[in-house]
Amino acid sequence: MNPSTGVDGPDEDPVDTGARPADSRMECRICWYLYDPAEGDPIGQVRPDTAFDDLPDNWRCPRCDSDKSSFLRSSETLASTDRPHQP
Ligand SMILES: [Zn+2]
Repeated sequence: MNPSTGVDGPDEDPVDTGARPADSRMECRICWYLYDPAEGDPIGQVRPDTAFDDLPDNWRCPRCDSDKSSFLRSSETLASTDRPHQP
């Protein structure tokens, strides 16, 4: 690490400027429930702005009760929703 710059430097910024995992939505491959980190999971009492990786290990799909291992990253959905090539 960087002991000289890490004194008062924000620890989380380098992570956030990288892949931004907090923006990654995850999709249940069983029922296609979409977990959006920006919204969290009101049913499972997950607060908004909670990344999927930050969910407790015992968190389950609110729709079909599958565990976290049943979820896949939903980058395709994200790209098609944003539609950068829209006329
Ligand atoms: Zn599900």
